[in-house]
Amino acid sequence: MGQPVAGNPSQFMMEQAFSAARLDWRYLTLEVPPERLGDAVRGMRAMGFRGGNFTLPHKVAVVEYLDRLTEAAELMGAVNCVTIEDDELVGENTDGKGFVESLREITEPAGKRVVLFGAGGAARAIAVELALNGVDAITIVNRSRERGESLVQLLTQRVDTDAEFILWDSEFAIPDDADLVINGTSIGLGDSQARLPVVAESFQSQHIVADVVFNPVRTRFLQEAAERGCKTVDGLGMLVNQGAIAFRAWTGVDPDKAVMREAVEEFLEI
Ligand code: NDP
Repeated sequence: MGQPVAGNPSQFMMEQAFSAARLDWRYLTLEVPPERLGDAVRGMRAMGFRGGNFTLPHKVAVVEYLDRLTEAAELMGAVNCVTIEDDELVGENTDGKGFVESLREITEPAGKRVVLFGAGGAARAIAVELALNGVDAITIVNRSRERGESLVQLLTQRVDTDAEFILWDSEFAIPDDADLVINGTSIGLGDSQARLPVVAESFQSQHIVADVVFNPVRTRFLQEAAERGCKTVDGLGMLVNQGAIAFRAWTGVDPDKAVMREAVEEFLEI
């Protein structure tokens, strides 16, 4: 459920995965206005839904209609995935978990030093999940001070993780001792030429560089990093993995992630 949701690839991705797993299930894309969210969530239980995903603008607003939250969703104050367990609506946030699962295809987060650009919904979800998975330290680099400092406060006070804020008001040079460098902003979305204010020469081959943006898959940020020898993790991996986590929670079955990735690529023509 979201508004607007036209063009969202999740239904196509999930239904291809249901089909590959031989499950006669449906995943519906529902356009729900904010003033009808409560009715829509109550309707899930009435109609025997197994769960659902929530996207903008409902990720925070949906919380008041749920019975309980997982630890990560409670820390983030935002939910993108609900599962109905024993008639209870349980809110989870799979954005950060999807990112971590995608990252694990290359490296383990524990002990890593992280530079994260952005402090919006996606960056917050990633930062909390990385902290819960034992990263060593997180530097939040954000354009607006308020959101950046609020995320640092959450990480240091509630997840007991070493975190600092750097105001992003000029070209940022990535420190040599960073292990993981992540674009958690919307810069690059729908624009393969959009560039993050980052000193290109500061990418080092030991940096693992990730992007949340999945369309285009090969963002300029990832391209510049790859040209300097960095391993990269694209936003499509995060999208597929957050979907796979929801799929598993609802069906109890492991989906075929390759089918899911192909489905998104087909849907978005990428
Ligand atoms: P938000 O609006 O919550 O946050 C946007 C962030 O980007 C903020 O930190 C904002 O900074 C920053 N930002 C935007 N424009 C600029 C700019 N020109 N210069 C510097 N900073 C900028 O969005 P979300 O966090 O929900 O989404 C961010 C991206 O993540 C989107 O592209 C979305 O598609 C993607 N996403 C991908 C997912 C996946 O599965 N791959 C899942 C969820 C999201 P400020 O605080 O200063 O405004």
